[in-house]
Amino acid sequence: MTNYDLVVGDATLRGRPGRWRIGIDDGRVVAVTDDPLTGRDEVDAAGGLVTESFVDCHLHLDKVHTLDRAGDAALTAYTGEGMGSALRAIELASAVKADYDRSWIEPNARRAVMEAVRHGVRHVLAFADVDTRARLEGVIPLLALREEFRGVVDLQVVAFPQDGLLRDPGAEDLVREAVDLGADVVGGIPWIEDSDAGSREHVRRMCALAAGQGRRVAMLVDDAGDSALHTTEMLAEAMLEHGLVGRGVANHARAVGLYARPAVDRLARLAKGAGLGFVSDPHTGPLHLPVLELTALGVPVALGQDDIEDAFYPFGRHNLAEIAFLAAHALEAVDTAGIDLVYDAVTTTAATVLGVTGHRLEEGGNADLVVHHQSTVRSVLAHHEAPAYVVASGRVVAISTSSTEFRLPS
Ligand SMILES: [Zn+2]
Repeated sequence: MTNYDLVVGDATLRGRPGRWRIGIDDGRVVAVTDDPLTGRDEVDAAGGLVTESFVDCHLHLDKVHTLDRAGDAALTAYTGEGMGSALRAIELASAVKADYDRSWIEPNARRAVMEAVRHGVRHVLAFADVDTRARLEGVIPLLALREEFRGVVDLQVVAFPQDGLLRDPGAEDLVREAVDLGADVVGGIPWIEDSDAGSREHVRRMCALAAGQGRRVAMLVDDAGDSALHTTEMLAEAMLEHGLVGRGVANHARAVGLYARPAVDRLARLAKGAGLGFVSDPHTGPLHLPVLELTALGVPVALGQDDIEDAFYPFGRHNLAEIAFLAAHALEAVDTAGIDLVYDAVTTTAATVLGVTGHRLEEGGNADLVVHHQSTVRSVLAHHEAPAYVVASGRVVAISTSSTEFRLPS
């Protein structure tokens, strides 16, 4: 009998009745069967649900755990007035960058990456502010963490001009420098420029850079309560023009939540043509992308953590089951179909959005798995505990338990 590197036994799988054994070799799933298997290492799932690992399609990783430095004035502005003051919030939040320094950013980011390991988050689209205030202080530690955690938590590092390009002269050169240093993705935030022409120019420059350097693009688009914003459309158009089909991500895009239905349908057609994936984070603001509608139209929509204890959001543990749990409420997606949709949005759909291939629990798929304490997706979300076992690249990288000792009066 084959002796596998790792066998996960007594597993419950989504949509496949019964109990299963998963044989893993060389970082790949090579057998999913109810036949006996033996492994050099064995994990007993004890009937728990085993699925693909989590994928976080949006995290401001350089800014995690900075809320105490930043104060909560930006938080109040970002979430208030139907998100009409989001630009003011970005200006307020920028204060944290007055003493931006890799020496304190690195341990904060490391803490968030370790929480990713604990919670079975295998891939992260990790944004680093790259602008005239942050300079390269945020992106440099993220590039180092990317190398250190490769194969356990893969970071796609985004060089992100948070304060604009035309609004912040000098930012563009710094983004180019960050790409030269090895940033994987070219960022952007076109909606904060002062005119539609400025927004379009912002998108054009960043897409041209990405195309020229063989990178992907990820932009924060239309992130305010203003239905006149249309930079998501500009991004999709620029991806088509610059040969970036299937290589772009639209984050936030909250204003789409205010569009009339025909405009949503039109945007969905354009996005599909451009291979543009979306990421929503309905827990960080009162207005959000129409996730269910766009998904139904065949557009891949993921969910992301967005922030962990920073000027825009006061909570967060890098627990994507928690994000799906929160989204299920915000999106009113609490029936079986809705729960499946939000779980896909932090696992398989999220992998599609990031361009990660092979992220499937099937023979030939990547052995990046989570073994849950609970046996159904609904109960996993209800508890949103750290998984019992996290498997990355075919190896167990985290084991978590939780227990309570009751001492009731007799
Ligand atoms: Zn964000």
